[in-house]
Amino acid sequence: MLSTFAYAFHFDASLYARYLRGYAEQRGVRRFDRKILDVSLRAADGFIEAVVLEGGERVEGDLFIDCSGFRGLLIEQALKSGYEDWSHWLLCDRAVAVPCQSAGQLTPYTRSTAREAGWQWRIPLQHRTGNGYVYCSRYLGDDEAAATLLANLDGEALAAPRMLQFTTGRRRRFWNRNCVALGLASGFLEPLESTSIHLIMTGVSRLVHYFPFGGVTQSFVDQYNEDVRLEAEAVRDFIILHYHVTDRVDTPFWRACREMQVPELLARRIRMFRERAHAWRGENEIFQLDSWVQVMFGQGIQPANYNHMTEGMKAPELARFLEGIRTTISRAVASMPAHQESLDRYCRASDDVWKNAAMK
Ligand SMILES: Cc1cc2nc3c(=O)[nH]c(=O)nc-3n(C[C@H](O)[C@H](O)[C@H](O)COP(=O)(O)OP(=O)(O)OC[C@H]3O[C@@H](n4cnc5c(N)ncnc54)[C@H](O)[C@@H]3O)c2cc1C
Repeated sequence: MLSTFAYAFHFDASLYARYLRGYAEQRGVRRFDRKILDVSLRAADGFIEAVVLEGGERVEGDLFIDCSGFRGLLIEQALKSGYEDWSHWLLCDRAVAVPCQSAGQLTPYTRSTAREAGWQWRIPLQHRTGNGYVYCSRYLGDDEAAATLLANLDGEALAAPRMLQFTTGRRRRFWNRNCVALGLASGFLEPLESTSIHLIMTGVSRLVHYFPFGGVTQSFVDQYNEDVRLEAEAVRDFIILHYHVTDRVDTPFWRACREMQVPELLARRIRMFRERAHAWRGENEIFQLDSWVQVMFGQGIQPANYNHMTEGMKAPELARFLEGIRTTISRAVASMPAHQESLDRYCRASDDVWKNAAMK
């Protein structure tokens, strides 16, 4: 039963990227470490014919995956696929990040702390702790954000704060002609639920599923775009829920979050929970039913009624059922090593690894 619980990992992003690069190259992937200067389109249908690298080399292909980050070098700059801006729902448009020395017990979770105009993340790794403040530039200046972050670290800062800007939203077409955008080239959802790398993984799996063997056909392109849109919108709504359902009225930022009009499907979801404690998980959605329930309750929604189907289980039977869960979990926890002990035992990295890790 316990193996069905969802979990996630904390990685050092630059070390993980290096690992994946080595993994791919060992299996025959060729890497050109050069800047793309131009994108050449086929006159007949506007498909991408080749990318032109620094030095003039042309790399031709049948299918191109755009992983160029926010700028969307192929999907937007060359193919003009369009961008749907969601920043009226997700107001944060900046982040400041800084690593610091680890202090105290290593915790097995990300801590997210609400702040005046956004929230602060704390991600403990073996060799350092990653920190950042995601905020809305309409309500907070960059210097104030950096000062707040630096005043709320566990240990000494290990680098100067790094500023990032973003526009939350999605590419209107994730797959356009013979180009598929993955990662930040496909859109940006702020990291409150750390979904970006997961969405890259589901994007890769989906592309394998709909792979254009024998050529690109519009039916597959349309289905891919529809699937990704629904997946991204569900993540978007789940994140909006954290901001919108709040009691905080102490700052203009939180008042704006509370008063905003949310997407219709999310508004209905909230009403269904308020009215009858009804939560659901749609097809293709990343977040499980439990996650929706926890955020609804956690943000303070008290349902007015309950689902009468639950009366099928009498109170003593329910108590026994819950006690069974509690006992199973307690036993599992008692027999497992603590987080630090488990890292030391199974995956402790040598000091050399940490020395080479970029301080991101
Ligand atoms: C503040 C913040 C916090 C985040 N936290 C999380 C988290 O907790 N969990 C999570 O899963 N994700 C998180 N993410 C998202 C995560 O960082 C991205 O999903 C990840 O970096 C993947 O990015 P990417 O490869 O799409 O783009 P990038 O990392 O931006 O890479 C784009 C690459 O394209 C290259 N490029 C651009 N133009 C050219 C050109 N002309 N020629 C050649 N190369 C070019 C760039 O050099 C770069 O290497 C966070 C993002 C931000 C901004």
